Amino acid sequence: MTAEQLRDASAELNPESAHKPMQQFLMAGVLYLLWIGLAWLSQGLGQLTLDPSSTAFMLTGIAATLGLFFGIARAEPVHQPPAAVVAGTQCLLGLVWATLFTYYVAESSELALGMYITANLFALFQVSRRTFLRLVMIGALAYAAVVCMREIPPASRGTLGADVLQLVIYLGVMGWLALFAGHIHDLRQQLHERNAQLRENIRKVARVAERDHLTKSFNRHYIMETLSREKGRADRSNNGFSICIFDLDHFKALNDEYGHLIGDRILKGFAKRVRAELRAMDAINPSDYRRSFGRFGGEEFIAILPNTGSAGAERCAERIRQAISNRPFDDIYRVTVSVGVASYRRGETVPELLTRADEALYRAKAEGRNRVVTADATEQFDATILDLRDVRG
Ligand code: GH3
Ligand code: MG
Ligand code: MG
Repeated sequence: MTAEQLRDASAELNPESAHKPMQQFLMAGVLYLLWIGLAWLSQGLGQLTLDPSSTAFMLTGIAATLGLFFGIARAEPVHQPPAAVVAGTQCLLGLVWATLFTYYVAESSELALGMYITANLFALFQVSRRTFLRLVMIGALAYAAVVCMREIPPASRGTLGADVLQLVIYLGVMGWLALFAGHIHDLRQQLHERNAQLRENIRKVARVAERDHLTKSFNRHYIMETLSREKGRADRSNNGFSICIFDLDHFKALNDEYGHLIGDRILKGFAKRVRAELRAMDAINPSDYRRSFGRFGGEEFIAILPNTGSAGAERCAERIRQAISNRPFDDIYRVTVSVGVASYRRGETVPELLTRADEALYRAKAEGRNRVVTADATEQFDATILDLRDVRG
C-alpha cells in the first residue's frame, strides 16, 4: 500500500464524509409524502376532517419547507450548515407542521401522534441528547397548547381524554427514545474518537512510509512514484519537468576523516539546506506544483522540478550548489556537491531520464566536481515562460 493509498483510507474515515445532505432531504420528502398520504387516507375513511383552505395552506408550507432543504442539500459543502443544525431545523419545522395539523383537524387524530414522533426521529441520531429532549419538550408543549385551545370551553370538542393520552404516549415513547439515542450517541462518540486516532496514526504511517529516516527527505520509493506521475502529467499536457541529481563530492574521504556519525550529520544538514532553498524558491515563484526533494541512496539526492525547463532547473541547481559550498556545515565541514540536470523529453522512460541526468552528473565529476552540468536536452515543452519567471526569482 502506498502513502497515497493510506491517505485515501484516512480520508474515508473522516466523519464529515458520512454527512449526506441530499439523502437527508430525500428522507424528509418521503416522510412528508407519507404524512400527506395518510391524512388523505384518513379523510377518505371519514376519520378526520380538514377544510380545503387549511389543507392548501399546509401543503404550500410543506412544499416551501422541502424547497428550503433542497436548497441546503444542493449548496456547496463549504456553505452547508453542520448536519446537526440541518437535522434540528428539519425536526423543528416538522413539529410546526404536526402542530398546525393537530390544530386544524376537527378530531383527535392518532396521525398527529405519529407526526410528532417521526418529526423528532429526524434529530434522533444527529443532535445531542439534551437538544433531542428540548425538541421533544417543544413538541409536547406545542401539542399541549393546541389541546388546551381546543378543549377550553366553549370550544371544547370533548376529546380531552384522548388528547391527554396521546400526549402521555408521545412523552413516554420519546423519553425511551432519548435513552436509546443517548446510548447510540455514546457509541458514535467512541467510534468518532477511535476514527480520529486511527486517522492520526495513518497520517503518521503515511509520512514515515514516504520519508528517508536519516534526512527526513522523501525516500527513493516516493521519488520513483513522483517521477512516473510527473511523466504522465507531462505526456498529457504541454508542461515538462526537470530533475537534478546531487552527489556530494569526496564524501567517502569526509567519512574517513571525521567518522560516519559526522557524515550522517552532514547528510542531514545537506538535505535541510536544500529543502530550505527549494522552499525559498517556491515562496518567490509560487506555483500549484511543488518541487520534491528526496534521497536517492547514500550521498545521492534528487530534486524533481515540475513545470520547469532545463534552463530553470540549471539555475535552481546552481543556487543550491552555492548554498552548500559557500557555508561549511557546523562552521567546520566544507562540503561541495556536483549536480547533473536533465529535462524530460516527451516519450522517454523514467530510467532513460535518470540515466541522462546521471551522465551529466558523471561529467560534472569528471570536469572537477562542485559544478552543475546539464544533459543535452532539446526543449520540447513550453518551458520558456517559467524559465523567464525563474530568472526574476
Ligand atoms: P565522488 O566525489 O566521486 O562522489 O566521491 P565519493 O567519495 O562521494 O563517492 P563514493 O561513491 O566513492 O563514496 C560515497 C560514500 O558515501 C561512501 C559511503 O561511505 C558514504 N555514504 C553513503 N551512505 C552514507 C550514509 O548513510 N552515512 C554516511 N555517513 N556515509 C554514507
Ligand atoms: Mg555517490
Ligand atoms: Mg559522492
